[in-house]
Amino acid sequence: MWQQQWILGNWKMNGRSAACRDFAARLAQHRLPENVLAGIAAPAPYAAALKQLLPAGWLNGAQDVSRFAADGAFTGETSAAMLADIGLDFVLVGHSERRQYFGEDHAVLSEKIDHAQAAGLIPVLCVGESLAEREAGREQAVVAAQLAVLADKKPAQIAVAYEPVWAIGTGKVATPEQIAEMHAFIYRELLSWAAEGANIRTLYGGSVNPQNARAILSLPHVDGALVGGASLQADSFAAIICATE
Ligand code: PEP
Repeated sequence: MWQQQWILGNWKMNGRSAACRDFAARLAQHRLPENVLAGIAAPAPYAAALKQLLPAGWLNGAQDVSRFAADGAFTGETSAAMLADIGLDFVLVGHSERRQYFGEDHAVLSEKIDHAQAAGLIPVLCVGESLAEREAGREQAVVAAQLAVLADKKPAQIAVAYEPVWAIGTGKVATPEQIAEMHAFIYRELLSWAAEGANIRTLYGGSVNPQNARAILSLPHVDGALVGGASLQADSFAAIICATE
């Protein structure tokens, strides 16, 4: 799995039971390439049902995990152990919307990554700069600081999604040069501290759609995509998966 392209969908706070069923039924009408790992980070109430509906071999994921590990008095929280218990494979950590609306910082994300790993889930760390940070020429410093949450853990498996905040849900896609430059930078950063032989996947996210996917996915050091809006419809998500061919 660490040699394949990953195409992960992030449904955010969208979907209903019927939408899960419709998505799976429509997806089944597509012939998808076998050399790609696809998956969905579902809203928590639907993750277990979606796992039953999606094709075998897909990655099943969640969008967030509690910073607390032990069962107990943490109303509203979902632990990493619970996500693993329903058979999920990965969890997004540090999505820019979590950082923005829920104030998730380095300390919180560090705990979430620890708990996900301990439960056997792959944490997909989301990193990316704001428009103001890019305009100030600080994009690499910002991303390096965000990646540092992994550095002292030296995980054997590293999954990162580079999502420039200004490109998420805006229709503004980073240019091929911006994506290639940042992904090369991320690889250099990761390799500067990663354990020998560590498995690495770096995904690009930010307004990926069927029209731009092939160009983005063919860039060096881009190992896949994290797709928001275009993952909600099976036809557009399937088209992005097919763009890896
Ligand atoms: C996301 O939220 O992770 C994302 C990439 O969204 P979109 O594709 O809609 O920009």
